[in-house]
Amino acid sequence: MRRKFTTFAATFFLALSAWAATPCPPALLTEVPRVAQLRGLDGRWQPRCELLAAASLKDRLATKLANELPLPPKLYMEVLQRLGFVPSTPELYERLLDFYASQVLGFYEPSRDTMVVVNRPLPSEEESSVVWVHELAHAAQEARFGLPTKLLSVKDNSDQQRSFSAIAEGEAMLVMLLLESPSPPPTESLEQAAQALVEVSKSLARSANIGDFFVEDLAFPYAQGLRTVLSAYKKGGWPAVDGLLTNPPTCTAHLLFGSPCNHLANRALPPVPEGFQELLTDSLGAWAVKFWFSQVAGGEEAEKLARAWDGDRLRLIRDARVPQRWALCWKLRLKRQAKAIWAQAFVRQHVSKLLASFRQGPPPQVTVVSEGRTLTVWVDWPAPQP
Ligand SMILES: [Zn+2]
Repeated sequence: MRRKFTTFAATFFLALSAWAATPCPPALLTEVPRVAQLRGLDGRWQPRCELLAAASLKDRLATKLANELPLPPKLYMEVLQRLGFVPSTPELYERLLDFYASQVLGFYEPSRDTMVVVNRPLPSEEESSVVWVHELAHAAQEARFGLPTKLLSVKDNSDQQRSFSAIAEGEAMLVMLLLESPSPPPTESLEQAAQALVEVSKSLARSANIGDFFVEDLAFPYAQGLRTVLSAYKKGGWPAVDGLLTNPPTCTAHLLFGSPCNHLANRALPPVPEGFQELLTDSLGAWAVKFWFSQVAGGEEAEKLARAWDGDRLRLIRDARVPQRWALCWKLRLKRQAKAIWAQAFVRQHVSKLLASFRQGPPPQVTVVSEGRTLTVWVDWPAPQP
């Protein structure tokens, strides 16, 4: 009897310590070998899990967001509002965090190679397994291609980051759709299923009142990413998808229009003038250019400009003594001279409207200068302009 009891206790403690080392929910563990097999990983592969108290989720998401953004989140929101990507919205950052927190069951954290699992009641097993397959696909991307880490390393180029993110999300969607369908589905139904998912997440995001920019920005990696990854998969199967994960396109212009990714280098920008500090140096890319101008010129015209994109770079600076006083230089290079003439007139016509909230009080001083294929937009830049 005593012996039996000891054995029982030992098993119990063993089970406890196994749970402590890998607090992975059983629904997640079931999916590990399936993802491993589909994505060519060793049968012994298993990411670590960490159980996160539901009450700590918002803080953890705030840290995650801060790690992904090039600036502290609240300052980044101010940049988006001043540049006219987002209308002035009170508590925007809080709303975004609340929205993310309401959606998350768990996520993969590449810096610690860990699946963070929120400790709260799961929806049905079927629903949660979809989420785990998707997040495990990200863990597999890290194990084989280091893609999630690569994505975090390009914070100085949001165009490149958005493009990498599209490949990562597109592949995770494909893995999810393939493993969650009862039999190998035809690719058309994959496209339809993906489209339906994107619509659901868009309407969820819309109901959270976070503004069109974040709704579209959230949806782009899934919708465009799956389109790109699926087209590679149809042509060349997993080897073609692996090629995309190994060398993801570095610009959204490539994903959207097949354009080459000719980024403008920092040396194309003016130096930070004396008495000013650099706030942000970044590339918008075709996706953001299209979204930006579509707000004032309509989607079709804005897409024409995005199609003509051949690299851009912007520098935001602020007065060291008056931190609310900002200035901007944005360089946009267009593909061909003929396009350049149209595009320059177009930007000249619309950019001031977009920058109306660049500062408080009277509208900012906006100057547009063309030189060959390159256009420069100066906003409140201190004289003399270089
Ligand atoms: Zn994902």
